[in-house]
Amino acid sequence: MAVSVQLQNLVKHFGTIRAVDHITLTIEPGELFFLLGPSGCGKTTLLRSIAGFNEPDSGTILIGERDVTRLPPHQRDTGMVFQSYALWPHMSVAQNVAFGLEMRKISKEETRERVKEALAMVRMTDWAGQKPNQLSGGQQQRVALARALVIHPQCLLLDEPLSNLDAKLRLEMRTEIRRICKESGLTAIYVTHDQKEALSVADRLAVLNGGVVEQCGAPREVYRRPVSMFAASFIGETNFIAGTFEGGEGGRVSIRTDLGTFVSTAPSGEFKVGQAVTVSLRPETLRLDDAPSDAPNQLEGFVHDSVYLGEVAQHQVRVGTEQPLNLKVFDLNPRIIARDGEESARIWVDPADVVVLPQEVSAGDDS
Ligand code: ATP
Repeated sequence: MAVSVQLQNLVKHFGTIRAVDHITLTIEPGELFFLLGPSGCGKTTLLRSIAGFNEPDSGTILIGERDVTRLPPHQRDTGMVFQSYALWPHMSVAQNVAFGLEMRKISKEETRERVKEALAMVRMTDWAGQKPNQLSGGQQQRVALARALVIHPQCLLLDEPLSNLDAKLRLEMRTEIRRICKESGLTAIYVTHDQKEALSVADRLAVLNGGVVEQCGAPREVYRRPVSMFAASFIGETNFIAGTFEGGEGGRVSIRTDLGTFVSTAPSGEFKVGQAVTVSLRPETLRLDDAPSDAPNQLEGFVHDSVYLGEVAQHQVRVGTEQPLNLKVFDLNPRIIARDGEESARIWVDPADVVVLPQEVSAGDDS
């Protein structure tokens, strides 16, 4: 039966670096949960703490009802999949998968059955007798998954499992990993810095920044309703415009900016009138089609530097006169392409897509 994983107030230092800074999270039974964030944000340290390879300075880790904080890795009932696969080159696929069971002194007959079941789960039955160097990267990763699944762990831990694969295989394995996790019903925690991987596969995800959880939620919620400039720019692309909160009523608020006033029905929290805020506009929410005549949030601008990608064009649109600003606009089924020159255009954005965030002094851009 699937179990929850609870992290309570977890702290881990390396010397003076606080890699994990009072993290509290509950991963629900059977959930496929992602830890996402830039290099150095603490996601691997957190995963390794759950696996038992790092001992936290303080805090508690519960797997189901069991406090595993001070238990060695082999007593935690977790299966780990590493970025490097870590397969034994001299052993066959079946022997690699069987290894963990032999260490646990499982009978030969049961081992044979469980290896068969695990290889079927990852669709590698026909490769049981091959050596790892006869397999593609994707196939090796499947074997690594089978090896983690065969011990019937309570929780599967995946550390950047796709980062050694080429782009096409990564896409294929994303879907496969989700299928395997869901079919096995396991609680799984998956570390990546690839936001597309997280958005496409996760049930829920936590965005980490400097050892703290910046935001936690379902992919759509975090993408559409980021709570900070960091979360908005780390997941997906966005345009930031500095402004002043002017208040409003009935769920509609106004933000004054150098580009004019934006109306929003999507503020990320409570703001005071006069407070400095940032408007976040995703490039695909900025539209070049005709706005309804009474629509707010319309801007005159010039489209330039279009990148035509077939189904979509990525434009720069220069807006504003005093201090012009370039906004990224993604236009599905594009009609305008301005590659060498520029074209005047009107862009608009639905108030439901105007996200208002607290202003941060040193937020990076969305690259
Ligand atoms: P990456 O995506 O690059 O693996 P990450 O988000 O997984 O990054 P961690 O590996 O958890 O980040 O590292 C978090 C912080 O702790 C970093 O500043 C890192 O330098 C530091 N750190 C991690 N492991 C050790 C260690 N064994 N000794 C010293 N410092 C460490």
